[in-house]
Amino acid sequence: MREAEHSSRRDFLAAGLAGASAGVLSSGQSAPAAENAATAIKVRYDELLPHEFRKRLAERPIAYLPLGTLEWHGEHLPLGSDAMQSEGLMVQCARRFGGIVMPPIYLGPDRAKPTDDGKMLVGMDYAESTTPARQLDGSCYWVPAGFHLLMVDAILAQLKRAGFRAVFADGHGPSRSSWVENLPERQARFGLKLFGVTREIARQWKSQVDHAARNETSLMMHLKPDLVDLSQLPSSRSTWPQGVGGADPRDATAAYGKECFESSVELVRQMFAAAGLL
Ligand SMILES: [Zn+2]
Repeated sequence: MREAEHSSRRDFLAAGLAGASAGVLSSGQSAPAAENAATAIKVRYDELLPHEFRKRLAERPIAYLPLGTLEWHGEHLPLGSDAMQSEGLMVQCARRFGGIVMPPIYLGPDRAKPTDDGKMLVGMDYAESTTPARQLDGSCYWVPAGFHLLMVDAILAQLKRAGFRAVFADGHGPSRSSWVENLPERQARFGLKLFGVTREIARQWKSQVDHAARNETSLMMHLKPDLVDLSQLPSSRSTWPQGVGGADPRDATAAYGKECFESSVELVRQMFAAAGLL
């Protein structure tokens, strides 16, 4: 999956470069060429050369931390959907507002309970929509809440050391909750300005607000259409898709995903602007 992503990223870069040179050759740069050039801006931490890192950090010392999982997201979405959505949003924010995007964390906390036969169920394994409750295929992300706290603490300490002054983290629901709950305490402890989908923001926030349902499915159709397969869902509306929580994913559209995505990007801009970072 990382390979596929890398090759599509290469395609993006190639398209961006082609667009940029076409713009130079013609009398005026066309709008699509400018758009392509914008997609070529490198914002992922792991891809930056030191001089690129220094420049981006000096311009806007904001780090983005995508909180992902490898988790069942219905039969129709890829297992890495959480990080794809949070990272996708953050890459766009970094291109528009500056900053650098950390590699996603694929481990996260969630509710968990043991079963009579000695197994453990986590998260959506025992959601109302999972009938009967069972270990859903592909879920492989659960860590105890305390371990996740320590891991994020360690990442924040490293980001501070590297020179960042602000961090925005978001993604997988329980990771988001953990981040937001501990935000004021960590802000004081690390001397970093921290941003997340707090209760005030949550009322308007439209990114990753259900589980593999209309919202997440639409976002994935906008961001990674090739990885979504709606034909895997039951065709009869009387059968609810397993392990899916929220509005019906069969009503998802890429256009709605784009609307949700853009409104979230705008909320991030407002958060940064209100904090005097832009
Ligand atoms: Zn999700």
